[in-house]
Amino acid sequence: MSHLNRRDFLKLAALTSFNLFVSPLTQPVQAQDGKPNVLVIVFDAFSAYHLSMYGYARETAPNLTKLAKRAVVYHNHFAAGSFTVPGTASILTGVLPWKHRAFRFEDGVVDEYADKSIFHAFDPYYRIAYSHNPHVVRFLDQFSTALTKFIPYEQLLLTGSGFVQSLFKNDDDAANIAWQRIMVKDKGLSYSLFLSALYKAYNENKLKAYRKFFPIGVPTIKGDDHYLLEDAIDWLNDELPKLPQPFLGYFHFMPPHDPYTPPRDFYGHFENDGFEVAEKPNDIFAPVRPFELMVTKRREYDEFILYLDREFGRLFDQLESSGLLENTWLVFTSDHGEMFERGIQGHITPAFYQPLVRVPLLILPPGNTTRTDIYAHTSAVDLLPTLLHVTGQKAADWTEGQILPPFAPSAPDPERSVYAFQSYHSEQKQVLTEATGMLVKGKYKLMYYSGYRDQLGDGKMLQLFDIEADPEELNDLSGIEREVVGKMLAELKAKYIEINEPEL
Ligand SMILES: [Zn+2]
Repeated sequence: MSHLNRRDFLKLAALTSFNLFVSPLTQPVQAQDGKPNVLVIVFDAFSAYHLSMYGYARETAPNLTKLAKRAVVYHNHFAAGSFTVPGTASILTGVLPWKHRAFRFEDGVVDEYADKSIFHAFDPYYRIAYSHNPHVVRFLDQFSTALTKFIPYEQLLLTGSGFVQSLFKNDDDAANIAWQRIMVKDKGLSYSLFLSALYKAYNENKLKAYRKFFPIGVPTIKGDDHYLLEDAIDWLNDELPKLPQPFLGYFHFMPPHDPYTPPRDFYGHFENDGFEVAEKPNDIFAPVRPFELMVTKRREYDEFILYLDREFGRLFDQLESSGLLENTWLVFTSDHGEMFERGIQGHITPAFYQPLVRVPLLILPPGNTTRTDIYAHTSAVDLLPTLLHVTGQKAADWTEGQILPPFAPSAPDPERSVYAFQSYHSEQKQVLTEATGMLVKGKYKLMYYSGYRDQLGDGKMLQLFDIEADPEELNDLSGIEREVVGKMLAELKAKYIEINEPEL
């Protein structure tokens, strides 16, 4: 590292293009006196299936169970998609994927909803956000004009801009800008390859210290980006009590998203615990994977949940002791689930089985002390209208969500239609090519696959489950309950006609 001095580095920085990423963004705040804060905590790829409060046999989250004792606990809360892009965009905009049309991995763009996010809706609030997940960072970037403070992705990583800062201790701003120019914006330039080698060596050195605490790897997002959830929680515990109020905070952390890397304290915790995994038929789209591998991955995922739960517990204790819980709506949820069955390991699949779409939702109203259980079917798009309603803000006229029970003025409709939708490969503004739609209505759940010509002959498939009587989705009723299928499919197809003709 001694070969590269500060002057050389800044000279290199000056040579690069000037399409700068500027952060954090600041705006004047007009405080709304007396309004409660809103704090939304999202843990990525967290399936409700893996929580004891929803019936899982392993106690993966004792601290969440503690929160549940005084919160509103939603038992049938559905993500709007099965991976980060559509799932998170729906939380943040309050509309389903067919409206925001952020379908694809590579271009998570909400387009006409770029000025219709939860941050825009909470205009009078101090609005702050952070995400470990680069897909979500892209959304936050799109919404950044409505953020008072947008915490840069690198700030809460273990390996990242710290490299540059260590070289230029006295001039963080210049170093950060140089870093963004060289490493983030212009990765293809040859001198960035040189820097990248230095960066790798630096990171390797830094990670060495943490390896002994993480037997199967230090938590990582992708490649060289490692993090410690401890750092993010420490940062929140320091920052939250100092924020101007009322604030809206959105914090999206990586665990238990893969790779599952529980710390030594939890690694092996569930080994040989007698937990029995039911064997299920292989999904038509999934590769055949050894059953034992799925069992091991599930165990590591469950142990990774213990890690996030411990850290969430530290946050919760701090919120309590700082008094923030007295005037803050605390929301705990996820963007989509994860699964270890039917040959599906993870969440990248056309299917919408329950472990992929049922996510935890707990809402703790300010100062609340008693538990309420909600069994009505609810959707990720309900969060935005609900939070506006309970804090006395102006309603968002664009949302497809409903105010959640028990905060809604009327009782939930037992026949409400709850949807999820995905289309990995469709162009944002074109007619959809390949898609899966899910409709949950009453006790039934329909999955409609269309356009999967490589795998399905005519490209189409239906699955119907009675999720009340058969929550494990073992009996496909699509060939038996023809009338139900007909009605639900007609409803879903009517939506498809609507969404295939976007207002262009
Ligand atoms: Zn995700």
